Amino acid sequence: MEVRVRHVDLDLEADFARKILRGFATLHLERSRDAGQAPLVLDTRDLEIAKTEAAGSDGAFHAVRYSLGRTDKILGTELIIEASAAASRVRIWYQTSPSASGLQWLSPAQTAAKRHPFLFSQSQAIHARSWIPLQDTPGVRFTYNARIRTPKALIALMSAENDPKTERDGEYTFRMPQPIPSYLMAIAVGDLMFRALSNRTGVYAEPPIIEAAAKEFSDTEKMVQAAESLYGPYRWGRYDLLVLPPSFPFGGMENPRLTFVTPTVLAGDKSLVSLVAHELAHSWSGNLVTNATWSDFWLNEGVTTYIERRIEEVLYGERRASMEAALGRQSLEKEIERLDDRFEILHVDLTGMDPDEGVTDIPYEKGALFLRTLEETFGRKVFDVFLRGYFDHFAFQSITTAQFIGYLKKNLFVSHPEQARRIPLEEWIYKAGVPAGAANPVSDAFEKAEQRAARWHNEQVPIAKTDTAGWTTQEWLAFLRYFEDHRLTPEQMARLDRQFQFTQTGNSEIEFEWLLLSVRYGYTPAYSRLEEFLTTVGRRKFLRPLYEELVKTPEGAIRARSIYAKARPGYHPIAQATVDEILKVGSN
Ligand SMILES: [Zn+2]
Repeated sequence: MEVRVRHVDLDLEADFARKILRGFATLHLERSRDAGQAPLVLDTRDLEIAKTEAAGSDGAFHAVRYSLGRTDKILGTELIIEASAAASRVRIWYQTSPSASGLQWLSPAQTAAKRHPFLFSQSQAIHARSWIPLQDTPGVRFTYNARIRTPKALIALMSAENDPKTERDGEYTFRMPQPIPSYLMAIAVGDLMFRALSNRTGVYAEPPIIEAAAKEFSDTEKMVQAAESLYGPYRWGRYDLLVLPPSFPFGGMENPRLTFVTPTVLAGDKSLVSLVAHELAHSWSGNLVTNATWSDFWLNEGVTTYIERRIEEVLYGERRASMEAALGRQSLEKEIERLDDRFEILHVDLTGMDPDEGVTDIPYEKGALFLRTLEETFGRKVFDVFLRGYFDHFAFQSITTAQFIGYLKKNLFVSHPEQARRIPLEEWIYKAGVPAGAANPVSDAFEKAEQRAARWHNEQVPIAKTDTAGWTTQEWLAFLRYFEDHRLTPEQMARLDRQFQFTQTGNSEIEFEWLLLSVRYGYTPAYSRLEEFLTTVGRRKFLRPLYEELVKTPEGAIRARSIYAKARPGYHPIAQATVDEILKVGSN
């Protein structure tokens, strides 16, 4: 890249009536030695460009010409700005489209309090371009400042320094002093409250859920400390959480300094907070050391999933961490059955594809299994030192899989040749499936839960005598997942429901698993709950399997279409695209 963006100044107004952001972005440029008169090339999608300007050493902006390239369905439209070699800054005046793929504008009815509208962004993988004209690749890092204007009753937050005591006056300024890739650009605007969890951690949420959120996430400071003791200092200042409305399409998004989380993790008993451990872990793997391309995504997610379980082990013990690892291995096996070989490769080839299509369990669970295998092979002590050194070495850089391999060989394999011989590296990174000799995390508790499911299913033990005392969410999930491959009659479903009230559970993971079984085995008493769930929750992890299960039968497909007709307007554009694909409906 001949001309690179190094810093961004944003000045935007959030117009809720028209559902647009409007203002300008000033990009500070760095030219390579051989750049010559090369123009600045930016990524955009559905942006309306008003004018472009450039400034040289005298600091004054003057109009410069721009042109738009061909529009690509996946990549959007290139914006080519004819700034001279003397221009060190370029300013783009623009506004976003109401259907920007990286933004969701919620009506008051779609929020928890139902009084004010809400806006949030989701830039990963390549949606930042739909709200900021940028070099939208994880290989380019920049710092940023921003000024955001909003209606006076609302506050704005960004993936930057947020002041918990900020005055609610409709104008907010932000500074992000560490260089980040574009996919970590984030904004949220809403009627939000703040609760401190410690001196440097806290949570933002809408008023009706702020107390529940503060309770659920009260272990956050302990998690930061656990991660720091393993992988070195947290380098981003504050660590805050923002609980979004339920249409947020993901579990969490690791926006630096301000993790975005789904309200579906508010289970009331901290049983789903491994998600916070995961997003926090990204402060090292992903935000600090970043995948240079989306084919290297496993460097973000595999390493993070591994660290998530290490943090969990420190906080909640080995038993719970190994249950998560065993569940992870189980879902990896299922994913491998489902996927084409080419998607089972850690360094996945995404040529011609939307990088969102590379989001499967492979980068997460196969990546984590690879790291766990390294840990078991080289020993935890040695491996911990290695991983901490890796973060220090590549801090604030974007790196490729090849760079990771080079570092691994030099700093671990060379000094431990005996163990290194037991790791089929090429196979792990460049081949489908799981290599022989991979770690095989097992969990006693987890196996017991499955055995109990089997014993009841084989009519050896009546349901009332099935011992579930003290079970965690992970054990309930193991129990329910047993029935995915072991058929239940509607009568058996009813018996389970009478005993354990699954249809009415307040735990979203258990609810999801139960609804999946309800669709599969035609358990009609859960259908109204299914409809309620699908019309209020927009988390893609839940939507995709439920709709996929529904369309397996003609009646289910009819039900799916009727539910989707009501649910679609409330879903995020990313979730809409996913379900459109499953139901073969939508605008295209
Ligand atoms: Zn992640």
